[in-house]
Amino acid sequence: MNLIYLPLVLLIALLAWFAGRIGFTPKSQGQSKNNFSKDYLVGLNYLLSEQPDKAVDIFIKLLEVDSETVETHLALGHLFRKRGEVERAIRIHQNLIARPQLTKKQRTQATLALGQDYLSAGVLDRAERLLLDVVDSGDFQAPALSMLLDIYQQEKEWEKAIQSAEKYQQIANHPMHSAIAHYNCELALEARRKLGSEQALRYLKRAISIDKDCVRASLLQGEWEAEQGEYKQAIKYFRRVVEQNPAFISEIIKPLANCYEKLGQPEEYLQFLHRCLDNTPRLSLVLALSERIQQEKGASAAAEFVAEQLYTRPSIYGLSRLIELQKQFSEGAAKYNLQLLFNVTQQLIMQKPVYRCDSCGYAGKVLHWQCPSCRRWTTIKPIQGLEGD
Ligand SMILES: [Zn+2]
Repeated sequence: MNLIYLPLVLLIALLAWFAGRIGFTPKSQGQSKNNFSKDYLVGLNYLLSEQPDKAVDIFIKLLEVDSETVETHLALGHLFRKRGEVERAIRIHQNLIARPQLTKKQRTQATLALGQDYLSAGVLDRAERLLLDVVDSGDFQAPALSMLLDIYQQEKEWEKAIQSAEKYQQIANHPMHSAIAHYNCELALEARRKLGSEQALRYLKRAISIDKDCVRASLLQGEWEAEQGEYKQAIKYFRRVVEQNPAFISEIIKPLANCYEKLGQPEEYLQFLHRCLDNTPRLSLVLALSERIQQEKGASAAAEFVAEQLYTRPSIYGLSRLIELQKQFSEGAAKYNLQLLFNVTQQLIMQKPVYRCDSCGYAGKVLHWQCPSCRRWTTIKPIQGLEGD
């Protein structure tokens, strides 16, 4: 026996046992039950002898005998899909839907399962049609809408994604405002390429009105204003990120430095960095301040500042910066050794991810607004602590 089929067989046996099918019913209960269990055993035997297609034929045939086995067949289809055998799952579900004796709810459930099969197989247009039918039926709307959302995100159909998310939010009573704000950001990016800035900015405003903490919308607004030379306005949007989510401070430091420089306001920039450091200590602020101190007072003063900060907030990035500064006013063997240490810390930093998903732990060096692994929105953030910001 191929052991990989064992859990599947056991589950089917268990399901059938619960349904009182496999030989557990007394003989006096009728001939049809005995035929039924015989067919089931033949089906199981095919599974055991690694002939799943023949087993599927038997199980499908059983449906004609008794429509009460719908749940068992849905479970069997689900198992095949889980195992990546989508074609077999599709055959089972298609045959289920074709049975006239199914109730309306059972047919909708089978349609939902078939839609999920096509989604797994990547046949998105067919999956979409089936799932829309499920939503229209009034039953199983929440799982159907959740799958439709998956399809629209894959196809980048953001308006449809917004509609489905709004409906899902209402039916499942699950907040979707963060994702809907991101769909608007996606529409803004698309509009900027095709229609121009005005329409794009309207989408960003909509994103903020839906989710006031949408960091991505603020970053895009700031970036686009700065590109137009509207630095004051850009600063306003970038600074909004601090209130929205201080975890993203590292994302605004460089663009803010550029805006303040263009306006000739280096003092305001410094004040902003100091104020942020007091309220939300982040290493990116320490590094930015250390650059300013180095420019104005030299490497020694900057090193002193970084060392002081490292006592309260140890960090590999801070250590590397301290070594880099220390090296500049060292000589001979000390300088050589510091260079070696600096190289080691830089290599460590190069291997470290910068962002991590709160939900699934996916980590990388690029900020994705939708996690490439768990597909959730806004769960990826800059890493904090010893190896982060
Ligand atoms: Zn994730």
